[in-house]
Amino acid sequence: MKISALNGFKDIIPGEVELWQHVENVARDIFSRFNFSEIRMPILEKTDLFARSIGEATDIVEKEMYTFIDKQITMRPEATASLLRAYIQHGLHVQKPVQRLFTIGPMFRHERPQKGRLRQFHQMDVEVLGTPNPRVDAELMAMGAMFLEKLGVTVSLEMNSLGCPACRPGFRETLLAFIEERKDKLCDDCVRRSTTNPLRVLDCKNPKCREQVEEAPSIQEHLCDDCAEHFTSVQKGLDQLKVDYSLNKFMVRGLDYYTRTTFEFITKDLGAQAAVGAGGRYDGLVEKLGGPKVPGIGFALGMERLVLLLQQKEEQKTDNSKIDIFVAGLGEKASEFVFPLVHILRQQGLQTAMDHEGRSLKSQMKQANKLNAGYVLIIGENELEQGQAVLRNMATQEQQEITIDSDNMKMASLLMKKCRQ
Ligand code: ATP
Ligand code: MG
Repeated sequence: MKISALNGFKDIIPGEVELWQHVENVARDIFSRFNFSEIRMPILEKTDLFARSIGEATDIVEKEMYTFIDKQITMRPEATASLLRAYIQHGLHVQKPVQRLFTIGPMFRHERPQKGRLRQFHQMDVEVLGTPNPRVDAELMAMGAMFLEKLGVTVSLEMNSLGCPACRPGFRETLLAFIEERKDKLCDDCVRRSTTNPLRVLDCKNPKCREQVEEAPSIQEHLCDDCAEHFTSVQKGLDQLKVDYSLNKFMVRGLDYYTRTTFEFITKDLGAQAAVGAGGRYDGLVEKLGGPKVPGIGFALGMERLVLLLQQKEEQKTDNSKIDIFVAGLGEKASEFVFPLVHILRQQGLQTAMDHEGRSLKSQMKQANKLNAGYVLIIGENELEQGQAVLRNMATQEQQEITIDSDNMKMASLLMKKCRQ
C-alpha cells in the first residue's frame, strides 16, 4: 500500500517550485531595498510563548495549534512570537535600536484544508522593532504593496486602528452594550466570544452576524487622542507614498497582541481565502514576553496564496530552466570518458547533464532538448578513436568538430570557452 502525505500537508515539486523561488526572490529583492536583514528561527517553541503572545482566547491557540501535550512544546503557528523570542534572547535591541527583520518558512495550524488553506503553510514575515513612528507603519504597507505589484498580483489594502490599552477597554464596553441588545440574533460562536473577546464579533464571517454588526460602533471614533493622531499620521504617510487603501472598521484580526494599526492585503480571486497578507502594530508585546519596552509592527504574507494567484494568471510559464551543456557519450567506452569530464565542467561552473542509461543518440538529443541545453557535445566510440567530437549549438543548429584532448582539464577549458562565447 502506498503512503501519501498527510491531509493539509503538501509537496512542492519541480515545475511548481520555480514559482515559489520566484516569489521568494522578488521578496528578498524588495525587502533588501527597505534595509531588512534575514533571521531564521526553529519550528518548535515552548507552548507558553504562543499562549502569551497570540492570546488564550484566539482561534489559533484554542483549536489550531499542533502541540505535544506531554512536552509542552508547539510547532509554530506564526512567526512573530518566535521572532520576538529570538530578538529578546539575543538582545538584538542592544546591538541596534531599530531592527528590521524578515523570515521565510513553514507554519503549522490544524485547520480544515481547502484551496489556499493548509495545515503546513509558508509565510514571509517582516517585523520592525524599536520605533512607534507612524511613518514606519506607512512604509511597511508601502513595501507590501510594492512587493505585490512587482509580483503582478492585484490586491486591495484595508486598514484599521485597534487603539491601545488606554482606549480599547472603553470601546469594548460600548461594543458589548451594542452586542447585548442583539445577542439572540448572533451565531453560537459570537455569543461565546462576546464574553471572552467581543471585538471578534465584528469580523465574524457568518452573514447573519454581519448584518447585525453593520451598525456597530466604530473603534475609529473611540480612539484616545494619541491613537487618533497616530492613525491620522499613518494615513498621511500612505498618501505621501501614493499607496491606495481603504478604512475597514470591522477588521480586528485574530491575534490578541495588536495595538493601533492593523491591515490586510485582500484579493478577490481566491474565494474565502481572501487575505494574502496581514499584520499590524504590537506595541506591548515585546515587554509581555519578558523583553524591553520596545514597540513593534509587522506583517506576514501567505506564500501558498501568492503562488495560487500566479498560477491562475497563467502568464507565468513555469519551466524556464536551462542547462549549459549536455554531454552525450554513446556506448560504454565513451560514457567512461565523459563521466569525469562532466564532473570537471560542473566544478568549473557549467550546468551540465549526461545520460546514465546507455541511450541512443536520438534519445539523448531528446533529453537535451527537454533540459533546454545550450550545447550538446557528442562523443561516440568512433569519435573517441579518431580523437574528434562534435559540439552542437542548439539555438543555431550549428555543429563544429573539436579535438578530443585526453587531458580532461584542457578539454573542459576548451568547452568552457565555447559554451560561454
Ligand atoms: P485567515 O483569515 O485566512 O485564516 P489569518 O488571519 O488566520 O488568515 P494570519 O495569521 O494573519 O492569517 O497570517 C497571515 C497570512 O498567512 C494570511 O493572510 C494568509 O495569507 C496566510 N495564512 C494563514 N493561515 C493559512 C493557512 N492555514 N494556509 C495558508 N495560508 C495561510
Ligand atoms: Mg486563520
